[in-house]
Parts: sequence; structure tokens; C-alpha cells
Amino acid sequence: MAETDSILVAQAPVPKDWIMAIAPYVPGKSKTDDGRAVAKLSSNENPFGTSQAARDAFISAAECLERYPDAAAAELREALGAHYGIEPERIIYGTGSDEVLHLAAGAFAGPGDEIIYSRFGFSVYPIATRRVGATPVVAPDKEYATDVDAILARVTERTRLVFIANPNNPTGSYSTREDIARLHAGLPRHVLLVLDQAYTEYLGPDEDDGGLELARTQSNVLVTRTFSKIFGLAAERIGWGYASPEIIAAMHRIRAPFSFGIGAQRAAIAALADRAFVAHSYAHNRHWRDWFEKEIAALGNKGLRAVPSRANFSLVLFEGETSAETAYKGLMDAGYIVRWLPGQELPHGLRITIGTAEQMTGLVAALRKIVGAEA
Ligand SMILES: *Cc1c(COP(=O)(O)O)cnc(C)c1O
Repeated sequence: MAETDSILVAQAPVPKDWIMAIAPYVPGKSKTDDGRAVAKLSSNENPFGTSQAARDAFISAAECLERYPDAAAAELREALGAHYGIEPERIIYGTGSDEVLHLAAGAFAGPGDEIIYSRFGFSVYPIATRRVGATPVVAPDKEYATDVDAILARVTERTRLVFIANPNNPTGSYSTREDIARLHAGLPRHVLLVLDQAYTEYLGPDEDDGGLELARTQSNVLVTRTFSKIFGLAAERIGWGYASPEIIAAMHRIRAPFSFGIGAQRAAIAALADRAFVAHSYAHNRHWRDWFEKEIAALGNKGLRAVPSRANFSLVLFEGETSAETAYKGLMDAGYIVRWLPGQELPHGLRITIGTAEQMTGLVAALRKIVGAEA
């Protein structure tokens, strides 16, 4: 290296060590390793696309691209308030619920503070934690599900935040209303409980973890939601959160003012109103997830089992002769991209999104071949 080069390197900006400690997020693939476009069942997207009304509303936004979007997202907050029976002034919004999770960590934790999440929790939590210089504290799981007692046992005076996804990604596990209430009751009042409900619309009509009610009545609960999953608007990055006015006001201070585009705002309002699309997506998912879990149970003699899921995907564990990696590659050859998760301590797991009927029957047929089951 020439002398000037080494001087340049020595003078280059140095990222914070907590930033360099982040393992970059790995998105689901949409093409095979050799470049073929195939069925993408790796990112929990809606197999039916999005509501036609949402698509039309998004297109209508093209008429005013020269104008800044409404920084207050007032119409969308009104629509959310009316739909869910919550106060619009207690709603924050962001580019995906990912941004809302980052805002929560940014407003309430920093260097020297601790953030707790579950071992198989959502992969954005470690990033959001380290990004603000806070220390991640990982609570062990209970049979792949969130273990409330393990989380509570790890609370210290440095704890500022607890992240939990319900249903959880990538395991699909669900914590009951009682579990969530117990978790909240066990936390000191200064700890913010962030309840990530990205998949809540896939729960049955009588299932409610009580998150919105807790956020309404308690000063330390933030619920986050997204339009990326059942509403099928992942491309537009639309998420929101609901909490006390004080929590929302703190998060607003660090929001990028115009990050939430006009197409996103219009599409979300229309998507919310199209209840038929959501009902159809729910019913399809329920049917094919049950079907898929039964098919995997039938491969129990080959060492396969599905972690019981309440979301729009299933985590399949490979504990027999065929490894998850072999199945991952075999499925890719057959035209199905799923998510293999060695980076999340799940080298023996594949997370498979519930797709169309044709995709699910085709995938199961391919999987049966790969593991050597009778046709
Ligand atoms: C998909 C997902 C999100 C958020 O997605 P956005 O597209 O950023 O809204 C949040 N939490 C969990 C657990 C998810 O799986």
C-alpha cells in the first residue's frame, strides 16, 4: 500500500462499534441462486396481492407527485381511529412497522441501556437495539415460543424496552392474552413493552391478545401494526403504532418528517376499507395453513414437524435424515423459494409462507419427493 493510501485509511470515518456489531438484515429471496423467478414463499407476503381499491388509490397519488405528503398523515390516522376504535392523536406511523420499532428503541434506549427480546424473536429487534447503542438481552424460548417468565427474569434496572412479536416471526407462536397481561404486570413501569402485532389479522375472530386495550390504558405499552402482511402493501412501507400521548410525542421528535409518502397514505386508507379482501385472505390462510400442518404431520416419520402457527407461514423443523438445507435447495430446484434460517439459530428450520392453493399442493408434492415419502 502506498503511504498516501494508508494515511487515507487511517483518516477514514470510523463507524461506531455498536453499528459494526450489527449483523445485516437478510431479506427473503425472490429468485433462485441461478436467477430463475419462481414461487416466492420467503417473505410472508399476501398471495392475492393487494385490494384493487388500494391499487387504484395508489395510482391516484401519481396526480400530485410534486407536493410533499401530509406530514401528519391526518386522514389515515382518522381512518385507523374509526376502524379500530382508538384515538387518532395517539397513533404514530412510519415506513413500515420496522421504522416504528426503530423509533421506539431510539426514543427510549441508548448506550448503557438494555433491551430484551426472545431467542427466536423477529430479526429486526437486534438491529434496532444495537443501532442505538443499547445492549441486547436475549431470553431463551420455550419450545420455540416466547417465554414470559424468561423475559421477566432478565429485567434489570438498566432494562428500557422489551420487544415481543405476537404472533411471532419466524416461529408463528402465539402468546395468550393472559401471557401478555402477566408480562406487562411483571415489568417495572419505566420499561416500555413493544407489542409487535404484524400478524394479528391472521388470528381468529375470538382471539385478541389485549394489546390495544393495554396500550389504551397503560403508560408503558406500544402496539405496532403493518399494512405489509394481510393488506398486501409491503412495497409501500406502511406501519403504525398506538401508545400513550407521551410515548407518541417522544417518537415523533425523531421521525423523518416526510418519510411517509402520499401513495402509502392513500393506499392504506383504501385497503382498510376493503374488508372483503381481508376476510378472503384470512379464510384462505386459515384453510391452507391447517392443510399444510396436517401434511407436515404426515411426514413425522421422516423427522419433519411444524411449530403450531397462528400467522401466515409455518416453521417446519427437520429433525430426521433430510436436513433443512437439503430441503431448501431441493425446493428451490422445484421452483419454490422458502426461508432457511441458519443466521437465526434455526439451521434445522424452514419458514414457509402460506401461498396459493396451487403453490401449496405443488410445494408439498416436491417436499414429499425430497424426503423420500411415498407419492
Ligand atoms: C413483517 C414484519 C414486520 C414489519 O414489516 P413492515 O413491512 O416493516 O411493516 C414487523 N414485525 C414482524 C414480526 C414482521 O414479521
